[in-house]
Amino acid sequence: MKRVLFLTSFILLSCLGPKWTARPLPTHTFKRCKPMHPMPQMTPIPSFPGVWQVVNSCDEYPREKTSIALTIFLKEWRKVLGNDYRAMKGLSDLMIVWQDESANTHSGYSSIGIFHENVRIRGATMNDSLVIIYQDKNGPDRHTRICESALIHELIHIIIWKQTRKHGDPDHLGKKYLGWTADHSMIIQRTNESLCILGI
Ligand SMILES: [Zn+2]
Repeated sequence: MKRVLFLTSFILLSCLGPKWTARPLPTHTFKRCKPMHPMPQMTPIPSFPGVWQVVNSCDEYPREKTSIALTIFLKEWRKVLGNDYRAMKGLSDLMIVWQDESANTHSGYSSIGIFHENVRIRGATMNDSLVIIYQDKNGPDRHTRICESALIHELIHIIIWKQTRKHGDPDHLGKKYLGWTADHSMIIQRTNESLCILGI
């Protein structure tokens, strides 16, 4: 009896599956950064129509990793703030520029809204669809993992900017601009923790 049951389950679990061809072929060159071509290069982010990135080297931030980072960001957003169509929309029209230099002379607000001049910033949201992530070649901002960069932080600014249509709440938890909440800070933390574990 046991033997019959074993054979039956084997037959049930062994399926040939539908016939299909895995595409694209080859994957390793499909719409990816091309090392022999001039830099910088702009590539589309898989699974996110309308999202592109610019890199200065094909060795850094492959577009697949950026896609995973955005996917996990949206997943964490849903966990904290629920299904939010505006968040999805915020990532439907976006350019991410990985800038290969520091931004020492910029000004900006701290996480609690205090204004600083001539400080080093890690990223900047220029409008509702453009972020620059600074990665100083010779400085401490030279990261290999996206989780160490300011990308996820800047994505929050992008979504707020798309919501307000006026600003991305540059002073974060400060009182001058409104939009940023502790929930947003939590989403950044949770997303970057997940990405670091994945080595992204
Ligand atoms: Zn910020």
